[in-house]
Amino acid sequence: EIEIRGVHKAFGSLHVLKGIDIDIPRGSVTAILGPSGSGKSTLLRMINQLETRTAGDILVHGDLIGYRRIGTGADATLQELDDKAIAEQRAKIGMVFQRFNLFPHKTAIDNVMEAPIHVAHRSKADARDEAIRQLTRVGLADRLDYYPSQLSGGQQQRVAIARALAMHPNIMLFDEPTSALDPELVGEVLSVMRQVAEEGMTMVVVTHEMGFAREVADQIIFLDEGVVVEHGGPEIIDNPQTTRFQAFLKSVL
Ligand code: ATP
Ligand code: MG
Repeated sequence: EIEIRGVHKAFGSLHVLKGIDIDIPRGSVTAILGPSGSGKSTLLRMINQLETRTAGDILVHGDLIGYRRIGTGADATLQELDDKAIAEQRAKIGMVFQRFNLFPHKTAIDNVMEAPIHVAHRSKADARDEAIRQLTRVGLADRLDYYPSQLSGGQQQRVAIARALAMHPNIMLFDEPTSALDPELVGEVLSVMRQVAEEGMTMVVVTHEMGFAREVADQIIFLDEGVVVEHGGPEIIDNPQTTRFQAFLKSVL
Protein backbone atom coordinates (compact mmCIF):
# COMPACT_ATOMS: atom_id res chain seq x y z
CA GLU A 1 0.00 0.00 0.00
CA ILE A 2 1.26 3.47 -0.92
CA GLU A 3 -0.19 6.67 0.52
CA ILE A 4 0.78 9.95 -1.11
CA ARG A 5 -0.24 12.93 1.00
CA GLY A 6 0.04 16.56 -0.02
CA VAL A 7 3.18 15.99 -2.03
CA HIS A 8 4.89 18.95 -3.65
CA LYS A 9 8.03 19.07 -5.73
CA ALA A 10 9.89 22.11 -6.96
CA PHE A 11 13.06 22.23 -9.01
CA GLY A 12 14.30 25.69 -8.09
CA SER A 13 11.50 28.03 -9.05
CA LEU A 14 9.76 25.39 -11.19
CA HIS A 15 6.83 24.00 -9.19
CA VAL A 16 6.32 20.58 -10.78
CA LEU A 17 3.96 18.79 -8.35
CA LYS A 18 1.42 20.90 -6.52
CA GLY A 19 -0.19 18.90 -3.76
CA ILE A 20 -0.72 15.30 -4.84
CA ASP A 21 -2.93 12.94 -2.80
CA ILE A 22 -3.24 9.35 -4.01
CA ASP A 23 -3.99 6.06 -2.24
CA ILE A 24 -2.66 2.94 -3.89
CA PRO A 25 -4.04 -0.19 -2.22
CA ARG A 26 -1.90 -3.29 -1.92
CA GLY A 27 -2.20 -5.58 -4.92
CA SER A 28 -3.79 -2.92 -7.13
CA VAL A 29 -2.71 -1.42 -10.43
CA THR A 30 -2.70 2.35 -10.79
CA ALA A 31 -2.20 3.94 -14.21
CA ILE A 32 -0.87 7.49 -14.29
CA LEU A 33 -1.78 9.39 -17.43
CA GLY A 34 -0.90 12.91 -18.43
CA PRO A 35 0.77 15.10 -21.02
CA SER A 36 4.52 15.53 -21.31
CA GLY A 37 5.94 17.61 -18.48
CA SER A 38 2.95 17.08 -16.18
CA GLY A 39 5.16 15.51 -13.49
CA LYS A 40 4.48 11.78 -13.96
CA SER A 41 8.10 10.62 -13.85
CA THR A 42 8.88 12.97 -10.99
CA LEU A 43 6.05 11.47 -8.94
CA LEU A 44 7.19 7.92 -9.69
CA ARG A 45 10.78 8.77 -8.84
CA MET A 46 9.68 10.23 -5.51
CA ILE A 47 7.98 6.96 -4.53
CA ASN A 48 11.33 5.27 -5.06
CA GLN A 49 13.33 8.06 -3.35
CA LEU A 50 15.19 8.94 -6.52
CA GLU A 51 13.93 12.50 -5.92
CA THR A 52 13.50 14.23 -2.60
CA ARG A 53 10.17 15.86 -1.88
CA THR A 54 9.71 19.56 -1.25
CA ALA A 55 6.67 18.96 0.97
CA GLY A 56 4.25 16.20 1.90
CA ASP A 57 4.54 12.58 2.91
CA ILE A 58 4.75 9.26 1.13
CA LEU A 59 4.04 6.15 3.16
CA VAL A 60 4.80 2.65 1.94
CA HIS A 61 3.07 -0.08 3.93
CA GLY A 62 2.40 2.48 6.66
CA ASP A 63 5.98 3.69 6.99
CA LEU A 64 7.06 7.16 5.98
CA ILE A 65 9.73 6.68 3.35
CA GLY A 66 13.14 8.04 4.21
CA TYR A 67 12.51 7.75 7.96
CA ARG A 68 12.53 5.18 10.72
CA ARG A 69 10.04 5.27 13.57
CA ILE A 70 11.64 5.15 17.01
CA GLY A 71 9.34 4.14 19.85
CA THR A 72 5.59 3.62 19.67
CA GLY A 73 2.36 5.55 20.08
CA ALA A 74 2.50 9.20 21.10
CA ASP A 75 6.15 8.91 22.12
CA ALA A 76 7.31 7.84 18.67
CA THR A 77 9.79 10.04 16.90
CA LEU A 78 11.07 9.88 13.36
CA GLN A 79 14.70 9.55 12.48
CA GLU A 80 15.99 10.30 9.02
CA LEU A 81 17.53 7.25 7.33
CA ASP A 82 21.08 7.17 6.07
CA ASP A 83 21.91 6.27 2.47
CA LYS A 84 22.38 2.58 3.26
CA ALA A 85 18.96 2.30 4.90
CA ILE A 86 17.38 4.20 2.02
CA ALA A 87 18.99 1.76 -0.39
CA GLU A 88 17.40 -1.09 1.58
CA GLN A 89 13.96 0.55 1.30
CA ARG A 90 14.50 1.10 -2.41
CA ALA A 91 15.49 -2.52 -2.97
CA LYS A 92 11.91 -3.52 -2.16
CA ILE A 93 10.57 -1.41 -5.03
CA GLY A 94 11.24 -2.50 -8.59
CA MET A 95 11.45 0.08 -11.33
CA VAL A 96 11.28 -0.28 -15.09
CA PHE A 97 12.11 2.65 -17.33
CA GLN A 98 11.31 3.65 -20.89
CA ARG A 99 14.89 2.85 -21.90
CA PHE A 100 15.78 -0.61 -20.75
CA ASN A 101 19.00 0.40 -18.97
CA LEU A 102 20.54 -3.06 -19.26
CA PHE A 103 24.28 -3.46 -18.88
CA PRO A 104 25.33 -3.82 -22.53
CA HIS A 105 28.39 -5.94 -21.76
CA LYS A 106 26.44 -8.49 -19.69
CA THR A 107 24.18 -11.28 -20.91
CA ALA A 108 20.49 -11.42 -20.02
CA ILE A 109 21.09 -13.80 -17.14
CA ASP A 110 24.04 -11.77 -15.82
CA ASN A 111 21.91 -8.61 -15.92
CA VAL A 112 19.25 -10.33 -13.83
CA MET A 113 21.79 -11.81 -11.37
CA GLU A 114 23.57 -8.50 -10.75
CA ALA A 115 21.38 -6.99 -8.00
CA PRO A 116 20.57 -10.23 -6.13
CA ILE A 117 24.33 -10.83 -5.79
CA HIS A 118 25.59 -7.31 -5.17
CA VAL A 119 22.65 -5.72 -3.37
CA ALA A 120 20.86 -8.65 -1.73
CA HIS A 121 24.13 -10.60 -1.15
CA ARG A 122 22.73 -13.88 -2.34
CA SER A 123 25.02 -16.68 -3.45
CA LYS A 124 25.86 -16.95 -7.11
CA ALA A 125 24.08 -20.31 -7.41
CA ASP A 126 20.98 -18.91 -5.75
CA ALA A 127 21.00 -15.81 -7.93
CA ARG A 128 21.40 -17.98 -11.02
CA ASP A 129 18.38 -20.13 -10.13
CA GLU A 130 16.37 -17.01 -9.42
CA ALA A 131 17.40 -15.39 -12.71
CA ILE A 132 16.43 -18.50 -14.68
CA ARG A 133 13.07 -18.52 -12.90
CA GLN A 134 12.41 -14.84 -13.64
CA LEU A 135 13.58 -15.00 -17.26
CA THR A 136 11.34 -18.02 -17.76
CA ARG A 137 8.45 -16.07 -16.22
CA VAL A 138 8.85 -13.34 -18.87
CA GLY A 139 9.18 -15.89 -21.67
CA LEU A 140 12.94 -15.69 -22.23
CA ALA A 141 14.13 -19.10 -21.04
CA ASP A 142 15.76 -19.56 -24.46
CA ARG A 143 17.67 -16.24 -24.38
CA LEU A 144 19.65 -16.53 -21.11
CA ASP A 145 23.06 -16.04 -22.69
CA TYR A 146 22.15 -13.35 -25.21
CA TYR A 147 23.60 -9.86 -24.92
CA PRO A 148 21.21 -6.88 -25.02
CA SER A 149 22.40 -6.01 -28.54
CA GLN A 150 21.25 -9.47 -29.67
CA LEU A 151 17.74 -8.98 -28.28
CA SER A 152 14.78 -7.04 -29.64
CA GLY A 153 13.54 -4.00 -27.73
CA GLY A 154 10.61 -6.00 -26.38
CA GLN A 155 12.92 -8.78 -25.22
CA GLN A 156 15.27 -6.27 -23.60
CA GLN A 157 12.37 -4.70 -21.76
CA ARG A 158 11.26 -8.13 -20.55
CA VAL A 159 14.81 -8.73 -19.25
CA ALA A 160 14.50 -5.42 -17.41
CA ILE A 161 11.23 -6.60 -15.84
CA ALA A 162 12.80 -9.94 -14.87
CA ARG A 163 15.72 -8.06 -13.37
CA ALA A 164 13.38 -6.00 -11.19
CA LEU A 165 11.34 -9.07 -10.17
CA ALA A 166 14.48 -10.99 -9.16
CA MET A 167 14.78 -8.70 -6.13
CA HIS A 168 11.33 -9.80 -4.90
CA PRO A 169 9.93 -6.29 -4.76
CA ASN A 170 6.55 -5.73 -3.17
CA ILE A 171 5.89 -2.77 -5.48
CA MET A 172 6.70 -2.34 -9.17
CA LEU A 173 6.92 1.09 -10.80
CA PHE A 174 6.84 1.36 -14.59
CA ASP A 175 7.67 4.61 -16.39
CA GLU A 176 6.36 4.42 -19.96
CA PRO A 177 7.80 0.92 -20.39
CA THR A 178 6.55 0.53 -23.95
CA SER A 179 6.93 3.97 -25.44
CA ALA A 180 10.42 3.35 -26.86
CA LEU A 181 9.29 0.13 -28.57
CA ASP A 182 8.27 -0.54 -32.14
CA PRO A 183 4.50 -1.01 -32.19
CA GLU A 184 4.69 -4.74 -32.92
CA LEU A 185 6.76 -5.30 -29.73
CA VAL A 186 4.45 -3.44 -27.34
CA GLY A 187 2.04 -6.34 -26.85
CA GLU A 188 4.58 -8.83 -25.51
CA VAL A 189 5.70 -6.39 -22.80
CA LEU A 190 2.15 -5.43 -21.84
CA SER A 191 1.22 -9.08 -21.59
CA VAL A 192 4.09 -9.73 -19.15
CA MET A 193 2.95 -6.71 -17.12
CA ARG A 194 -0.60 -7.99 -17.13
CA GLN A 195 0.59 -11.37 -15.85
CA VAL A 196 2.59 -9.70 -13.04
CA ALA A 197 -0.53 -7.70 -12.12
CA GLU A 198 -2.67 -10.85 -12.07
CA GLU A 199 -0.20 -12.42 -9.67
CA GLY A 200 -1.11 -9.68 -7.20
CA MET A 201 1.75 -7.20 -7.50
CA THR A 202 1.12 -3.60 -6.42
CA MET A 203 1.89 -1.64 -9.58
CA VAL A 204 2.09 2.01 -10.59
CA VAL A 205 2.33 2.42 -14.34
CA VAL A 206 2.90 5.62 -16.27
CA THR A 207 1.58 4.81 -19.73
CA HIS A 208 -0.04 6.07 -22.88
CA GLU A 209 -1.47 2.62 -23.61
CA MET A 210 -5.16 3.28 -23.06
CA GLY A 211 -6.18 -0.31 -23.75
CA PHE A 212 -3.88 -1.56 -21.02
CA ALA A 213 -5.04 1.16 -18.61
CA ARG A 214 -8.68 0.38 -19.27
CA GLU A 215 -8.33 -3.39 -18.96
CA VAL A 216 -5.68 -3.85 -16.27
CA ALA A 217 -5.74 -0.76 -14.04
CA ASP A 218 -7.95 -0.59 -10.97
CA GLN A 219 -7.36 3.14 -10.66
CA ILE A 220 -6.68 5.87 -13.21
CA ILE A 221 -4.96 9.12 -12.28
CA PHE A 222 -4.90 11.94 -14.83
CA LEU A 223 -2.16 14.40 -13.98
CA ASP A 224 -1.84 17.79 -15.65
CA GLU A 225 0.48 20.64 -14.69
CA GLY A 226 1.34 18.98 -11.39
CA VAL A 227 -2.20 18.38 -10.11
CA VAL A 228 -4.51 15.37 -10.18
CA VAL A 229 -7.21 16.64 -12.52
CA GLU A 230 -9.27 13.42 -12.60
CA HIS A 231 -9.09 10.11 -10.81
CA GLY A 232 -11.34 7.09 -10.61
CA GLY A 233 -11.87 3.62 -12.00
CA PRO A 234 -10.99 2.67 -15.57
CA GLU A 235 -14.43 3.84 -16.70
CA ILE A 236 -13.30 7.48 -16.49
CA ILE A 237 -11.33 6.90 -19.70
CA ASP A 238 -14.60 6.48 -21.54
CA ASN A 239 -16.31 9.30 -19.71
CA PRO A 240 -13.84 12.14 -19.06
CA GLN A 241 -15.35 15.00 -17.08
CA THR A 242 -12.88 17.79 -17.76
CA THR A 243 -11.93 19.38 -21.06
CA ARG A 244 -8.25 18.78 -20.21
CA PHE A 245 -8.71 15.02 -19.87
CA GLN A 246 -10.90 14.97 -22.99
CA ALA A 247 -8.21 16.79 -24.96
CA PHE A 248 -5.50 14.47 -23.63
CA LEU A 249 -7.43 11.32 -24.55
CA LYS A 250 -8.08 12.68 -28.02
CA SER A 251 -4.34 13.27 -28.44
CA VAL A 252 -3.31 9.72 -27.51
CA LEU A 253 -6.09 7.61 -29.04
P1 ATP B 1 7.07 13.01 -20.06
O1 ATP B 1 5.71 12.49 -20.46
O2 ATP B 1 7.66 13.84 -21.14
O3 ATP B 1 7.98 11.94 -19.58
P2 ATP B 1 6.56 13.78 -17.28
O4 ATP B 1 5.13 13.97 -17.00
O5 ATP B 1 7.20 12.51 -16.88
O6 ATP B 1 6.82 14.05 -18.85
P3 ATP B 1 8.54 14.98 -15.58
O7 ATP B 1 9.71 14.30 -16.18
O8 ATP B 1 8.07 14.55 -14.26
O9 ATP B 1 7.33 15.00 -16.61
O10 ATP B 1 8.92 16.52 -15.54
C1 ATP B 1 8.03 17.50 -15.03
C2 ATP B 1 8.70 18.84 -15.13
O11 ATP B 1 9.81 18.88 -14.24
C3 ATP B 1 9.24 19.18 -16.51
O12 ATP B 1 9.00 20.54 -16.75
C4 ATP B 1 10.72 18.90 -16.38
O13 ATP B 1 11.46 19.72 -17.25
C5 ATP B 1 11.00 19.25 -14.94
N1 ATP B 1 12.10 18.47 -14.37
C6 ATP B 1 12.14 17.12 -14.22
N2 ATP B 1 13.29 16.74 -13.63
C7 ATP B 1 14.00 17.86 -13.40
C8 ATP B 1 15.29 18.13 -12.81
N3 ATP B 1 16.05 17.15 -12.32
N4 ATP B 1 15.67 19.42 -12.75
C9 ATP B 1 14.91 20.42 -13.21
N5 ATP B 1 13.68 20.24 -13.77
C10 ATP B 1 13.24 18.98 -13.87
MG1 MG C 1 8.23 11.01 -17.86
